Parts: sequence; C-alpha cells; structure tokens
Amino acid sequence: MNAPITLPDPDTMYQAIVDRDAEMEGLFLFAVKTTGIFCRPGCKSKAPKRENVEFFATASEALAAGYRACKRCRPTELSGSVPAWLTQLVDALEAEPTRRWTNADLTEMGLSPSRVRRWFQEHYQMTFHAYLRMRQIGLAVDMLQTGSDVTSVALESGYESLSGFRDSLRKWTGQTPTSIKHGEPILVDRFLTPLGPMLAAGNDAGLCLLEFADRKMLSKQFERISKRFAQPILPGKHPVLTSAAEQIDQYFQGKRTEFTLPLRLDGTSFQEIVWKKLSEIPYGQTRSYRELAEQVSKPSASRAIGRTNGDNRLAIVVPCHRVVRSDGHLCGYAGGLWRKRWLLEHEQKARQTRLPL
Ligand SMILES: [Zn+2]
Repeated sequence: MNAPITLPDPDTMYQAIVDRDAEMEGLFLFAVKTTGIFCRPGCKSKAPKRENVEFFATASEALAAGYRACKRCRPTELSGSVPAWLTQLVDALEAEPTRRWTNADLTEMGLSPSRVRRWFQEHYQMTFHAYLRMRQIGLAVDMLQTGSDVTSVALESGYESLSGFRDSLRKWTGQTPTSIKHGEPILVDRFLTPLGPMLAAGNDAGLCLLEFADRKMLSKQFERISKRFAQPILPGKHPVLTSAAEQIDQYFQGKRTEFTLPLRLDGTSFQEIVWKKLSEIPYGQTRSYRELAEQVSKPSASRAIGRTNGDNRLAIVVPCHRVVRSDGHLCGYAGGLWRKRWLLEHEQKARQTRLPL
C-alpha cells in the first residue's frame, strides 16, 4: 500500500530553506549535521550551510537518523492537523463525500496530486483513493447502523447498484450489510509522539492496535484485526483512542509507568499467555526470551516467544520493547531498533529522576 516517496531535487529544497518557503511545507524536512536538529522548510532559524544539510521525507526518518526535532518549528507536528494548503480539499471532501476525485480535479484546485497522496499516506497509512473509499464505506456503515435500509444506503453513498455496494463492502470490510448493521466498526486515529506519529485503533470493546505509523506491514495488521474482530476499520475518533493518546503522552513525559486502558489482547491461547506475561515486566526493566519461556513453563519456546513478541499489536502498552536476548543484546523490534533503544533509555532515565516510592 505504501507509495514510494520521492523528494524534490536538492537544489530546489535548499532554495526553499533559504527562502523559508512555506509552500514547500509537507514536501520534505531538513536536518543540520552541525547542530543535530531537524526542521520544517519554513523554519525561522538561521539558514544552514548547504554542505551541512541532510534532507528527509518524514519526521520518522530524521528521528531514526538520530536528529532531534527543532523546538521552534516543531517538525514532528507537521501533519498533526490539516495544513493550510490542504483545507480547501478537506472541506470539499466533507461537503461531497461521495464524489469521485481525479488527479485533474486536484490539479484544478492548484494542488499537486503527488503531494496530496503523500499527505494521506503519511497521515492515514493509506492512499488518497483508499481514504476516499473508506470515507464512503464509513458513511454507509453509519447509515446502516442508524437504521437506513440497504438499498437507500447504497444509492446515497454513491454506488450505482446494490450488488456493487455489497461487493465493495465485502472487499473493504469483509462484511455483509446485515452483519454491519449489528456491529461496531473499529476506528483508527493518529497522534504524535517524540518518536514519530502513532496509529491507534479500537472501539467500545477496547484498544486493539497501537503502532508507530511507519511500521512495515501495518496494512497487513489492519487486515488481520479486521478479520479477527469481524469489523471494518474506518478513520475516526473514539474515547478509547483519546485516552490512549493521553496516556502515551504522559509516558513520554516520564509521568506514567503503567497504563489503564481497556485492551483487546485476543490471539491464540499461547499468544494471550505470552502477551499477558509481557505486560507484567515492570517499567524500566528487561527480561530475556528464555526467562519468559520459563515463566510460561515452556523452556524450549524461546523462538515462539520471540515470534509472539513480534506479533504484539499494542506497542509500548504491552511492553515488548522490554524483551532482550539473554546476553543483554537488544535484537529485533518491529518499530525499529532505534526506538527500542530509545524507549529503554527513556525508562531508565525517568526511573532515576523519580523519587523512590
Ligand atoms: Zn526549526
């Protein structure tokens, strides 16, 4: 699902930095080798020398390369809300949710289709067209659940035929109109952290996914949870997602060591046991795969534990980053090894600065 990201050419990007060109916002970020800080193109700080500049497509990549976010232009908050250049399009989408958009429509609005695509990809982990389709499905699901009949929902949400509507629903949600009528979709929202944007998914039953937005295979994960919970996944807000964002923010501020979120840890019985054990590893401590294997009374299961650890859908909240190799080596982390190292160091530091209980 990930579209390749291409940056403008370096000379154009450097000129945009010198000119503090706000029009280039959202197209790239730049880091300064001499200061270790990365910025948005429109940052008001003094323009760096050309040879000291490194360009990045996303804040996550700049963070992964070891740069810190500029406190002045706050580059990790770049796509936290709808940027000015995109508001006209977003308003149009809301006003006419069933309209079919072409690249020509975007160009006519003065927008670059590739820039729009990149924003949606980064913001929702899906292409612009997938987003439009999900919005359309979302409206249909909403109408079905508030009692409208299937035929009028199909027509009102822009489908030309009832069978086309059924096919589309099945393709995107794995559901029939009847099963949707009685279900509750899983909503996905996004929020920002010092380690880059995270996506949270859940509904009244609890939080079922929490991942860094640039994690590979995220669309596979979405497919899996949609199947497991037999619900469509749609962009939207929910109190459980708001609480997750708040608690994660407190965690990053060093003010929270445990989470009080309703979690959906559904998996195989082995996975559920392992994830529960993972959740018991105290803040700021680590356990080895072997220790965990012994705890679940399967000393030979280190490998299976490793795999189950990697299948964890709830980053940070189910602290799979606290599992290391017996020799203390960090080894893999789905969100990237640099994040695992960062999280462990963060917990160490926060523990040391807090008064003993
Ligand atoms: Zn800056």
